[in-house]
Amino acid sequence: MRAQIIGTGSYVPEKVVTNRDLEKIVETSDEWIVERTGIRERRQAAPGENTSDMALKASIRALEMASTRADELDLIIVGTISPDMPMPACAAFLAHKLGATKCFAFDLSAACAGSLFGMSIASQFIETGRAKRVLVVGVELLTRIVDWKDRNSCVLFGDAAGAMVLGPSKDEGRGVISTHLHTDGSQTGILCIPGGGMSSEARLRVILDNAATVLCCTPTYAIRLGEVAAQNKMDISRSGVKRIIVAGEPGGSIHATRRRIETLWSGASVFDHHGMTETGPVTYECPARPGVLHVMESAFYAEVIDPATGKPVPAGELVLTTLTRTGSPLLRYRTGDLVRRDLENPVCSCGRHEIALGGGVHGRVDDMVIVRGVNIYPGSIDTLFQGLPDVAEYRVHVNTKSALAELRVEVEPVETCKDTEKLAALITNTLQIALSLRVPVTIVAPGTLPRSEMKAKRWVKG
Ligand SMILES: [Zn+2]
Repeated sequence: MRAQIIGTGSYVPEKVVTNRDLEKIVETSDEWIVERTGIRERRQAAPGENTSDMALKASIRALEMASTRADELDLIIVGTISPDMPMPACAAFLAHKLGATKCFAFDLSAACAGSLFGMSIASQFIETGRAKRVLVVGVELLTRIVDWKDRNSCVLFGDAAGAMVLGPSKDEGRGVISTHLHTDGSQTGILCIPGGGMSSEARLRVILDNAATVLCCTPTYAIRLGEVAAQNKMDISRSGVKRIIVAGEPGGSIHATRRRIETLWSGASVFDHHGMTETGPVTYECPARPGVLHVMESAFYAEVIDPATGKPVPAGELVLTTLTRTGSPLLRYRTGDLVRRDLENPVCSCGRHEIALGGGVHGRVDDMVIVRGVNIYPGSIDTLFQGLPDVAEYRVHVNTKSALAELRVEVEPVETCKDTEKLAALITNTLQIALSLRVPVTIVAPGTLPRSEMKAKRWVKG
Protein backbone atom coordinates (compact mmCIF):
# COMPACT_ATOMS: atom_id res chain seq x y z
CA MET A 1 0.00 0.00 0.00
CA ARG A 2 1.32 3.40 -0.96
CA ALA A 3 0.79 6.75 0.72
CA GLN A 4 -0.88 9.43 -1.30
CA ILE A 5 -1.21 13.19 -0.88
CA ILE A 6 -4.96 13.73 -0.57
CA GLY A 7 -5.04 17.40 0.33
CA THR A 8 -2.79 20.46 0.30
CA GLY A 9 -3.05 23.97 1.68
CA SER A 10 -0.87 27.01 2.04
CA TYR A 11 -0.75 30.31 3.85
CA VAL A 12 1.28 33.48 3.37
CA PRO A 13 1.11 36.56 5.63
CA GLU A 14 -0.34 39.73 4.13
CA LYS A 15 2.71 41.96 4.31
CA VAL A 16 4.89 41.90 1.18
CA VAL A 17 8.58 42.84 1.28
CA THR A 18 9.90 43.51 -2.21
CA ASN A 19 13.49 43.57 -3.40
CA ARG A 20 13.10 47.35 -3.69
CA ASP A 21 12.22 47.46 0.04
CA LEU A 22 15.42 45.54 0.80
CA GLU A 23 17.48 48.00 -1.26
CA LYS A 24 16.65 50.57 1.43
CA ILE A 25 18.11 48.55 4.31
CA VAL A 26 20.99 46.59 2.77
CA GLU A 27 23.48 47.10 -0.06
CA THR A 28 21.70 45.15 -2.80
CA SER A 29 19.54 45.62 -5.89
CA ASP A 30 16.45 44.06 -7.43
CA GLU A 31 18.55 42.90 -10.41
CA TRP A 32 21.22 41.32 -8.19
CA ILE A 33 18.63 39.31 -6.21
CA VAL A 34 16.53 38.24 -9.21
CA GLU A 35 19.57 37.19 -11.23
CA ARG A 36 20.94 34.98 -8.45
CA THR A 37 17.77 33.68 -6.80
CA GLY A 38 14.76 34.46 -8.98
CA ILE A 39 13.10 35.97 -5.90
CA ARG A 40 11.16 39.23 -6.39
CA GLU A 41 9.30 39.46 -3.09
CA ARG A 42 8.79 37.62 0.19
CA ARG A 43 6.17 37.78 2.93
CA GLN A 44 6.55 38.91 6.50
CA ALA A 45 4.45 37.73 9.45
CA ALA A 46 2.50 40.35 11.37
CA PRO A 47 3.61 41.27 14.90
CA GLY A 48 2.12 38.69 17.25
CA GLU A 49 1.67 36.14 14.49
CA ASN A 50 3.44 32.91 15.42
CA THR A 51 4.76 29.93 13.48
CA SER A 52 1.92 27.72 14.72
CA ASP A 53 -0.65 30.36 13.63
CA MET A 54 0.62 30.19 10.06
CA ALA A 55 0.77 26.37 10.23
CA LEU A 56 -2.84 26.34 11.44
CA LYS A 57 -4.17 28.33 8.47
CA ALA A 58 -2.38 26.14 5.91
CA SER A 59 -3.47 22.96 7.74
CA ILE A 60 -7.17 23.93 7.80
CA ARG A 61 -7.06 24.33 4.01
CA ALA A 62 -5.28 21.00 3.51
CA LEU A 63 -7.75 19.17 5.79
CA GLU A 64 -10.70 20.72 3.92
CA MET A 65 -9.34 19.51 0.58
CA ALA A 66 -8.72 16.04 2.04
CA SER A 67 -12.23 15.98 3.58
CA THR A 68 -10.55 15.06 6.85
CA ARG A 69 -11.50 16.22 10.34
CA ALA A 70 -8.71 17.17 12.77
CA ASP A 71 -9.74 14.41 15.18
CA GLU A 72 -9.22 11.85 12.42
CA LEU A 73 -5.50 12.62 12.28
CA ASP A 74 -3.14 9.93 13.61
CA LEU A 75 0.05 11.97 13.34
CA ILE A 76 1.18 15.58 12.80
CA ILE A 77 4.72 16.34 11.66
CA VAL A 78 5.85 19.97 11.52
CA GLY A 79 9.08 20.66 9.66
CA THR A 80 10.45 23.93 11.02
CA ILE A 81 13.63 25.56 12.26
CA SER A 82 11.75 28.58 13.61
CA PRO A 83 9.16 27.09 15.99
CA ASP A 84 7.16 29.21 18.46
CA MET A 85 9.69 28.09 21.07
CA PRO A 86 12.27 25.28 21.39
CA MET A 87 9.87 23.35 23.63
CA PRO A 88 6.97 22.41 23.51
CA ALA A 89 7.03 21.47 19.85
CA CYS A 90 5.28 23.67 17.31
CA ALA A 91 3.41 20.48 16.33
CA ALA A 92 1.92 20.32 19.85
CA PHE A 93 0.67 23.92 19.58
CA LEU A 94 -0.75 23.14 16.14
CA ALA A 95 -2.49 19.94 17.33
CA HIS A 96 -4.17 21.89 20.11
CA LYS A 97 -5.22 24.77 17.85
CA LEU A 98 -6.65 22.32 15.31
CA GLY A 99 -8.43 20.25 17.96
CA ALA A 100 -6.52 17.15 16.86
CA THR A 101 -6.98 15.14 20.04
CA LYS A 102 -6.21 11.60 18.89
CA CYS A 103 -2.82 12.04 17.28
CA PHE A 104 0.79 12.28 18.31
CA ALA A 105 2.76 15.22 17.04
CA PHE A 106 6.38 16.26 16.74
CA ASP A 107 8.70 18.77 15.06
CA LEU A 108 11.34 17.94 12.53
CA SER A 109 14.43 20.11 12.16
CA ALA A 110 15.67 19.80 8.60
CA ALA A 111 15.45 23.39 7.32
CA CYS A 112 14.53 23.53 3.61
CA ALA A 113 14.17 19.74 3.47
CA GLY A 114 11.65 19.62 6.36
CA SER A 115 8.55 18.94 4.24
CA LEU A 116 10.23 16.20 2.19
CA PHE A 117 11.69 14.49 5.25
CA GLY A 118 8.26 14.75 6.87
CA MET A 119 6.54 13.28 3.84
CA SER A 120 8.97 10.35 3.83
CA ILE A 121 8.28 9.59 7.50
CA ALA A 122 4.52 9.97 6.99
CA SER A 123 4.60 7.60 3.98
CA GLN A 124 6.21 4.90 6.05
CA PHE A 125 3.63 5.15 8.84
CA ILE A 126 0.92 4.80 6.18
CA GLU A 127 2.65 1.99 4.24
CA THR A 128 3.00 -0.08 7.41
CA GLY A 129 -0.63 0.56 8.34
CA ARG A 130 0.30 2.35 11.57
CA ALA A 131 -1.45 5.54 10.47
CA LYS A 132 -4.39 6.36 8.20
CA ARG A 133 -4.21 10.13 8.15
CA VAL A 134 -1.02 12.17 8.58
CA LEU A 135 -0.67 15.95 8.41
CA VAL A 136 2.75 17.20 7.28
CA VAL A 137 3.48 20.93 7.52
CA GLY A 138 6.49 22.91 6.38
CA VAL A 139 6.49 26.31 8.05
CA GLU A 140 9.05 29.01 8.76
CA LEU A 141 8.95 32.39 10.41
CA LEU A 142 12.46 33.49 9.51
CA THR A 143 12.11 37.25 9.16
CA ARG A 144 12.49 37.56 12.94
CA ILE A 145 15.71 35.53 12.88
CA VAL A 146 17.62 36.56 9.74
CA ASP A 147 20.52 38.97 9.96
CA TRP A 148 19.14 41.98 8.08
CA LYS A 149 22.68 43.29 7.65
CA ASP A 150 23.85 40.21 5.74
CA ARG A 151 22.87 40.74 2.10
CA ASN A 152 23.91 37.20 1.17
CA SER A 153 21.31 35.55 3.37
CA CYS A 154 18.58 38.06 4.26
CA VAL A 155 17.27 38.24 0.69
CA LEU A 156 16.58 34.50 0.65
CA PHE A 157 14.07 34.10 3.45
CA GLY A 158 10.49 34.93 4.26
CA ASP A 159 7.52 33.63 6.26
CA ALA A 160 4.92 31.10 5.07
CA ALA A 161 3.39 27.68 5.64
CA GLY A 162 2.54 24.72 3.38
CA ALA A 163 0.59 21.67 4.50
CA MET A 164 -0.33 18.28 3.08
CA VAL A 165 -2.57 15.47 4.30
CA LEU A 166 -1.45 11.96 3.42
CA GLY A 167 -3.54 8.80 3.45
CA PRO A 168 -3.48 5.30 1.95
CA SER A 169 -3.77 5.26 -1.84
CA LYS A 170 -6.78 3.43 -3.23
CA ASP A 171 -5.18 3.21 -6.66
CA GLU A 172 -2.04 0.98 -6.86
CA GLY A 173 -0.57 3.22 -9.54
CA ARG A 174 -0.66 6.36 -7.42
CA GLY A 175 1.19 7.65 -4.40
CA VAL A 176 4.72 8.08 -3.11
CA ILE A 177 6.87 5.57 -4.97
CA SER A 178 10.07 6.01 -2.99
CA THR A 179 12.06 8.69 -1.20
CA HIS A 180 15.83 9.11 -1.07
CA LEU A 181 17.13 11.29 1.72
CA HIS A 182 20.65 12.36 2.46
CA THR A 183 22.28 14.86 4.81
CA ASP A 184 25.82 16.23 4.42
CA GLY A 185 26.83 17.09 7.97
CA SER A 186 30.21 18.51 6.96
CA GLN A 187 28.72 21.86 5.90
CA THR A 188 27.12 22.91 9.17
CA GLY A 189 29.11 26.13 9.37
CA ILE A 190 27.64 27.71 6.21
CA LEU A 191 24.44 29.00 7.76
CA CYS A 192 23.42 28.64 11.37
CA ILE A 193 21.07 29.92 14.06
CA PRO A 194 23.13 29.84 17.25
CA GLY A 195 21.18 29.31 20.44
CA GLY A 196 20.37 26.77 23.09
CA GLY A 197 23.39 25.20 24.73
CA MET A 198 25.91 27.56 23.17
CA SER A 199 29.65 27.29 23.65
CA SER A 200 31.31 30.32 25.20
CA GLU A 201 32.88 31.11 21.83
CA ALA A 202 29.49 31.05 20.09
CA ARG A 203 28.02 33.21 22.84
CA LEU A 204 30.81 35.77 22.39
CA ARG A 205 30.16 35.82 18.68
CA VAL A 206 26.47 36.52 19.32
CA ILE A 207 27.41 39.34 21.71
CA LEU A 208 29.69 40.89 19.06
CA ASP A 209 27.39 40.28 16.06
CA ASN A 210 24.38 41.79 17.78
CA ALA A 211 26.33 44.69 19.30
CA ALA A 212 24.99 43.77 22.76
CA THR A 213 25.41 46.60 25.26
CA VAL A 214 24.58 44.80 28.51
CA LEU A 215 25.94 41.47 29.73
CA CYS A 216 24.23 39.68 32.64
CA CYS A 217 25.97 36.66 34.19
CA THR A 218 27.88 35.44 37.21
CA PRO A 219 31.19 37.20 37.93
CA THR A 220 32.99 33.91 37.22
CA TYR A 221 31.42 33.65 33.80
CA ALA A 222 32.20 37.26 32.90
CA ILE A 223 35.85 36.41 33.55
CA ARG A 224 35.56 33.12 31.67
CA LEU A 225 34.10 34.86 28.59
CA GLY A 226 36.93 37.39 28.72
CA GLU A 227 39.51 34.59 28.81
CA VAL A 228 37.87 32.70 25.91
CA ALA A 229 37.84 35.92 23.87
CA ALA A 230 41.56 36.43 24.51
CA GLN A 231 42.36 32.81 23.59
CA ASN A 232 40.42 33.14 20.33
CA LYS A 233 41.84 36.57 19.52
CA MET A 234 38.36 38.09 19.64
CA ASP A 235 38.58 41.80 20.36
CA ILE A 236 35.94 42.41 23.01
CA SER A 237 37.36 45.81 23.89
CA ARG A 238 35.57 47.02 20.77
CA SER A 239 32.32 45.25 21.66
CA GLY A 240 29.33 47.42 22.51
CA VAL A 241 29.16 46.04 26.07
CA LYS A 242 29.07 49.00 28.44
CA ARG A 243 27.42 47.45 31.52
CA ILE A 244 28.06 44.06 33.08
CA ILE A 245 25.44 43.17 35.68
CA VAL A 246 26.68 40.29 37.79
CA ALA A 247 24.68 38.13 40.18
CA GLY A 248 24.43 34.63 41.56
CA GLU A 249 27.62 34.52 43.58
CA PRO A 250 29.70 36.89 45.69
CA GLY A 251 32.32 38.72 43.64
CA GLY A 252 30.47 41.62 42.02
CA SER A 253 31.38 43.80 44.97
CA ILE A 254 34.89 42.41 45.48
CA HIS A 255 37.30 45.04 44.23
CA ALA A 256 39.82 42.58 42.74
CA THR A 257 37.12 40.61 40.90
CA ARG A 258 35.53 43.76 39.50
CA ARG A 259 38.89 45.04 38.34
CA ARG A 260 39.63 41.76 36.59
CA ILE A 261 36.27 41.81 34.76
CA GLU A 262 36.65 45.48 33.80
CA THR A 263 40.18 44.85 32.52
CA LEU A 264 39.06 41.94 30.33
CA TRP A 265 36.02 43.90 29.09
CA SER A 266 37.67 47.27 28.78
CA GLY A 267 35.16 50.08 28.49
CA ALA A 268 32.51 48.25 30.53
CA SER A 269 31.53 48.90 34.14
CA VAL A 270 30.47 46.18 36.54
CA PHE A 271 27.28 46.47 38.58
CA ASP A 272 26.59 44.03 41.37
CA HIS A 273 23.06 42.74 41.69
CA HIS A 274 22.02 40.85 44.76
CA GLY A 275 18.77 39.05 45.28
CA MET A 276 17.36 35.60 45.86
CA THR A 277 14.50 33.48 44.61
CA GLU A 278 12.76 33.63 47.97
CA THR A 279 12.65 37.44 48.14
CA GLY A 280 13.37 38.88 44.70
CA PRO A 281 15.91 41.71 44.32
CA VAL A 282 17.20 42.87 47.70
CA THR A 283 19.88 45.48 47.03
CA TYR A 284 21.19 47.78 44.33
CA GLU A 285 24.66 49.11 43.82
CA CYS A 286 25.41 52.61 45.06
CA PRO A 287 25.94 54.91 42.06
CA ALA A 288 28.57 56.90 43.98
CA ARG A 289 30.54 54.12 45.68
CA PRO A 290 31.30 51.06 43.51
CA GLY A 291 31.10 47.82 45.47
CA VAL A 292 28.64 49.20 48.04
CA LEU A 293 25.12 47.77 48.01
CA HIS A 294 22.08 49.61 49.37
CA VAL A 295 19.23 47.55 50.82
CA MET A 296 15.86 48.51 49.34
CA GLU A 297 14.38 49.51 52.66
CA SER A 298 11.02 50.35 51.13
CA ALA A 299 10.64 46.60 50.55
CA PHE A 300 12.68 45.01 53.36
CA TYR A 301 13.38 45.39 57.05
CA ALA A 302 17.01 44.29 57.21
CA GLU A 303 19.07 43.08 60.16
CA VAL A 304 22.63 41.82 60.41
CA ILE A 305 23.17 39.16 63.09
CA ASP A 306 25.84 36.84 64.38
CA PRO A 307 24.85 33.50 62.82
CA ALA A 308 25.79 31.63 66.00
CA THR A 309 24.23 33.83 68.70
CA GLY A 310 21.52 35.70 66.77
CA LYS A 311 22.72 39.01 68.32
CA PRO A 312 22.91 42.13 66.14
CA VAL A 313 26.45 42.77 64.88
CA PRO A 314 27.99 45.05 62.22
CA ALA A 315 29.33 42.08 60.20
CA GLY A 316 27.38 38.85 59.99
CA GLU A 317 24.38 37.20 58.37
CA LEU A 318 21.77 39.28 56.56
CA VAL A 319 18.24 38.67 57.87
CA LEU A 320 15.26 40.04 55.95
CA THR A 321 11.63 40.70 56.70
CA THR A 322 9.59 41.52 53.62
CA LEU A 323 7.33 44.57 53.80
CA THR A 324 5.51 44.40 50.47
CA ARG A 325 5.22 40.74 49.51
CA THR A 326 1.62 39.90 50.27
CA GLY A 327 1.67 36.56 48.45
CA SER A 328 4.66 34.98 50.19
CA PRO A 329 5.80 37.19 53.05
CA LEU A 330 8.92 36.31 55.03
CA LEU A 331 9.53 37.08 58.68
CA ARG A 332 13.15 37.40 59.79
CA TYR A 333 14.34 35.21 56.93
CA ARG A 334 17.89 33.91 57.41
CA THR A 335 19.43 34.60 53.99
CA GLY A 336 22.75 32.85 54.68
CA ASP A 337 24.52 35.82 53.03
CA LEU A 338 27.42 37.34 54.93
CA VAL A 339 27.54 41.13 54.85
CA ARG A 340 29.11 44.09 56.64
CA ARG A 341 27.05 47.18 57.51
CA ASP A 342 28.65 50.52 56.85
CA LEU A 343 27.87 52.31 60.11
CA GLU A 344 30.39 55.10 59.62
CA ASN A 345 28.34 56.90 56.98
CA PRO A 346 24.69 57.24 58.09
CA VAL A 347 24.15 59.29 54.96
CA CYS A 348 25.88 57.85 51.91
CA SER A 349 27.83 60.09 49.56
CA CYS A 350 25.12 59.35 46.98
CA GLY A 351 22.66 61.09 49.32
CA ARG A 352 20.76 57.96 50.36
CA HIS A 353 19.93 56.93 53.91
CA GLU A 354 19.32 53.29 53.09
CA ILE A 355 21.49 50.65 54.78
CA ALA A 356 24.82 50.34 52.96
CA LEU A 357 26.63 46.99 52.79
CA GLY A 358 30.35 47.58 52.22
CA GLY A 359 31.88 45.11 49.81
CA GLY A 360 28.50 43.57 48.99
CA VAL A 361 28.00 39.92 49.90
CA HIS A 362 31.21 38.44 51.29
CA GLY A 363 30.17 34.81 51.24
CA ARG A 364 27.69 32.30 52.56
CA VAL A 365 27.25 31.16 56.14
CA ASP A 366 27.11 27.52 55.04
CA ASP A 367 30.30 27.91 52.97
CA MET A 368 32.39 28.68 56.00
CA VAL A 369 34.96 26.08 56.98
CA ILE A 370 36.87 26.00 60.23
CA VAL A 371 40.47 24.96 59.79
CA ARG A 372 42.48 24.69 63.02
CA GLY A 373 40.24 27.22 64.70
CA VAL A 374 40.33 29.72 61.84
CA ASN A 375 36.99 30.65 60.21
CA ILE A 376 37.57 30.70 56.47
CA TYR A 377 35.05 32.04 53.95
CA PRO A 378 35.49 31.16 50.26
CA GLY A 379 34.78 34.80 49.36
CA SER A 380 37.84 36.04 51.23
CA ILE A 381 40.06 33.43 49.56
CA ASP A 382 38.61 34.48 46.20
CA THR A 383 39.59 38.08 46.94
CA LEU A 384 43.18 36.97 47.53
CA PHE A 385 43.40 35.00 44.28
CA GLN A 386 41.67 37.60 42.11
CA GLY A 387 44.39 40.01 43.19
CA LEU A 388 47.11 37.77 41.73
CA PRO A 389 47.32 38.40 37.96
CA ASP A 390 49.40 35.25 37.29
CA VAL A 391 46.60 32.98 38.58
CA ALA A 392 44.20 31.77 35.87
CA GLU A 393 42.17 29.42 38.09
CA TYR A 394 42.41 27.74 41.47
CA ARG A 395 40.78 24.98 43.47
CA VAL A 396 40.68 24.50 47.22
CA HIS A 397 40.50 21.01 48.71
CA VAL A 398 39.12 20.73 52.22
CA ASN A 399 39.84 17.42 53.90
CA THR A 400 37.20 16.99 56.59
CA LYS A 401 37.89 13.29 57.15
CA SER A 402 40.56 13.87 59.77
CA ALA A 403 39.53 15.33 63.10
CA LEU A 404 41.09 18.64 62.18
CA ALA A 405 40.10 19.93 58.74
CA GLU A 406 43.02 20.52 56.41
CA LEU A 407 43.30 22.77 53.37
CA ARG A 408 45.36 22.40 50.24
CA VAL A 409 45.26 24.51 47.10
CA GLU A 410 45.81 23.75 43.42
CA VAL A 411 46.72 26.71 41.24
CA GLU A 412 46.70 26.99 37.48
CA PRO A 413 48.99 29.80 36.30
CA VAL A 414 48.25 31.91 33.23
CA GLU A 415 50.16 30.73 30.16
CA THR A 416 52.43 33.76 30.29
CA CYS A 417 53.57 33.05 33.87
CA LYS A 418 57.36 32.64 33.68
CA ASP A 419 58.30 31.50 37.16
CA THR A 420 55.75 29.09 38.66
CA GLU A 421 57.91 28.31 41.70
CA LYS A 422 57.98 31.97 42.60
CA LEU A 423 54.20 32.12 42.13
CA ALA A 424 53.72 29.13 44.47
CA ALA A 425 55.90 30.80 47.11
CA LEU A 426 53.97 34.07 46.75
CA ILE A 427 50.63 32.30 47.21
CA THR A 428 51.86 30.33 50.23
CA ASN A 429 53.05 33.57 51.78
CA THR A 430 49.81 35.45 50.97
CA LEU A 431 47.69 32.69 52.54
CA GLN A 432 49.97 32.54 55.57
CA ILE A 433 49.54 36.27 56.20
CA ALA A 434 45.77 36.28 55.60
CA LEU A 435 44.84 33.08 57.45
CA SER A 436 47.77 32.47 59.79
CA LEU A 437 47.86 28.98 58.30
CA ARG A 438 50.43 27.17 56.25
CA VAL A 439 48.52 25.86 53.22
CA PRO A 440 50.28 23.51 50.74
CA VAL A 441 50.14 24.92 47.18
CA THR A 442 50.44 22.74 44.06
CA ILE A 443 50.96 24.28 40.62
CA VAL A 444 49.07 22.44 37.85
CA ALA A 445 49.40 22.70 34.05
CA PRO A 446 47.35 25.35 32.19
CA GLY A 447 43.89 24.05 31.21
CA THR A 448 43.77 21.42 33.99
CA LEU A 449 41.20 22.92 36.36
CA PRO A 450 37.51 22.95 35.45
CA ARG A 451 35.86 26.21 34.43
CA SER A 452 32.25 26.80 35.23
CA GLU A 453 29.65 28.59 33.13
CA MET A 454 27.35 28.85 36.15
CA LYS A 455 28.38 29.38 39.74
CA ALA A 456 32.02 28.57 40.35
CA LYS A 457 32.75 25.30 42.15
CA ARG A 458 36.21 26.02 43.46
CA TRP A 459 35.85 24.30 46.82
CA VAL A 460 36.02 20.55 47.01
CA LYS A 461 35.12 18.98 50.33
CA GLY A 462 35.79 15.40 51.30
ZN1 LIG B 1 25.14 55.29 48.16
